[in-house]
Amino acid sequence: MSKTSPRPLTPDVTSALESLRADAVRRNAGEPEFHQALDEVLESLGPVLSARPELLDVLRRLVEPERQIIFRVPWQDDAGATHVNRGFRVEFNSALGPYKGGLRFHPSVNLGVVKFLGFEQIFKNALTGLNMGGGKGGSDFDPHGRSDAEVMRFCQSFMTELYRHLGEHTDVPAGDIGVGGREIGYLFGQYRRITNRWEAGVLTGKGTGWGGSPVRVEATGYGNVLFAAEMLAQRGEDLEGQQVVVSGSGNVALYSMEKAQALGAHVLTASDSSGYVVDEKGIDLDLLKQVKEVERGRVADYAERRGASARFVPGGRVWDVPADLALPSATQNELDAEAALALIRGGVKAVSEGANMPCTPEAVRLFREAGVALGPGKAANAGGVATSGLEMRQNAARSAWTFADVEARLAAIMRDIHATVHETAEIHGAPGDYVLGANIAGFQRVAEAMDAQGII
Ligand code: GLU
Repeated sequence: MSKTSPRPLTPDVTSALESLRADAVRRNAGEPEFHQALDEVLESLGPVLSARPELLDVLRRLVEPERQIIFRVPWQDDAGATHVNRGFRVEFNSALGPYKGGLRFHPSVNLGVVKFLGFEQIFKNALTGLNMGGGKGGSDFDPHGRSDAEVMRFCQSFMTELYRHLGEHTDVPAGDIGVGGREIGYLFGQYRRITNRWEAGVLTGKGTGWGGSPVRVEATGYGNVLFAAEMLAQRGEDLEGQQVVVSGSGNVALYSMEKAQALGAHVLTASDSSGYVVDEKGIDLDLLKQVKEVERGRVADYAERRGASARFVPGGRVWDVPADLALPSATQNELDAEAALALIRGGVKAVSEGANMPCTPEAVRLFREAGVALGPGKAANAGGVATSGLEMRQNAARSAWTFADVEARLAAIMRDIHATVHETAEIHGAPGDYVLGANIAGFQRVAEAMDAQGII
C-alpha cells in the first residue's frame, strides 16, 4: 500500500492522533486558531486512518508547513511618520500545485492566524480539483482610515520582500480580508517593476482589464450560496422565499447577498465590527455597495440612509434575527455556542460558512446535534479560490473567458464539491456531516499525492 511509510503501522490510531496533536500544539505554542483548525481536521480523520494507518506518517508531515516566511514591512504615512508592520507568508503544502491562497491585511494577523488559514486552504484547494497547493499570508497592517497613497506605499514595501518567494509555478497569492482589487493592483505593479516581467499568473484577483477573470470578485459569495442551495436541495427545498441572515459587509457578504437575492431569498441583515443592520424590506444591495465599496463607510450609514425599514443595532449580532439560512461571512469564530442556540431557536435549517472557520467548535457541535446542515468553509467558500484557479488557467493560455462561461464553470465546481463531500460523509457512516466529508475528501486528495511523491 504505502510506498513511503518506513515505520511499522501504529495499531492504535486514536493514541497516535493524540500524540500527533500534542506534538503540533507544543511546536506551535500560543497559536489557538491554528490548534482549532488542526483539531477540526484531526477529529474527522479517524475513519480514514483506521483503514489506512500508514497515512499517519503523511499526516505528520502535512501538519508542518513546508516554509514559513516572516519579514519587516516599513512604510511612511502621509505625514512622513515611519511605521513598521510584520509580513507573513506560510507556504504550507505544494503536493497538488503551487502554493495558493490569499493575503489578509488586518490588525489581528499573526503567525498562528496565517497558519490556520494556510492549513484550511490546503484542503479547500484540494476539494476544487484544480491542482493548487495551500498557502496564506498577510500583515498586521490596518488599511482602515488610510489614504490610497498610504495603502500603495504599504503594498509596495510588502511586495519588495515578498516578490522573491512568488511565481506562477511557485506561489500565487490573492486577496482576503483587507486585500481587494486596489491592493492587488498595487502589489502587481510593484512585482512587475521589481522583476521587469509582466507575469499575469503571479497573483489572482487582478482587474479584468489586466489579466483578471470575470466573476473572481463575486466568486466566494456566489459559490457559498450555490453550496447552500445544494444543501437545501438535499431537504427538497430551494432558496425561493427563504429568510437569510448574512454577517459581514465585505466582499464575501455582499456577493452572497447578491446571489441569494437572485435566487429569490429575502436577505435581512449585514454587519461590521460596530454592530448590525436589520432591514425588514430586505437589504438594498445597491445602497449597501455604495456605502461599503465606494465610500468605504459603515453599515450604520446604510441604516441612516435606507429609511424606516432598516434598524441599526449597535454592538449586536445578526444571529439573534430568526432565519432559515445563516451565511457567516465576516471572520473566524464570529458564531459561538450562544449564537448557534439563538439560530436553532429561530428555526435555522442550514448554515454555510462564507468566512474561514466562523463557527466555533461548540457551535459546530450544536448544529450537528440539532440536525442543522453545516457547510464548512473549506467546501462552502471554495468558489473564490476555484475562480482564482480559473484565472490562472486563462493567464496560462493567454485567453479571456466570458462572465457566463466562468460562472457556469464555478457552478459546476460547487456542485462537484458538494457531491464529493456529501458522498464522502455517507461512505464513512456519517450522512449529512459536511465537516467530516470535507476534511476526509480534502485530506485523501493531498495525502495520496504526498504519499506518491515520497518523503520530502
Ligand atoms: N482568500 C480566499 C480564500 O480564503 C481566496 C484565496 C485565493 O483566491 O487564492 O480562499
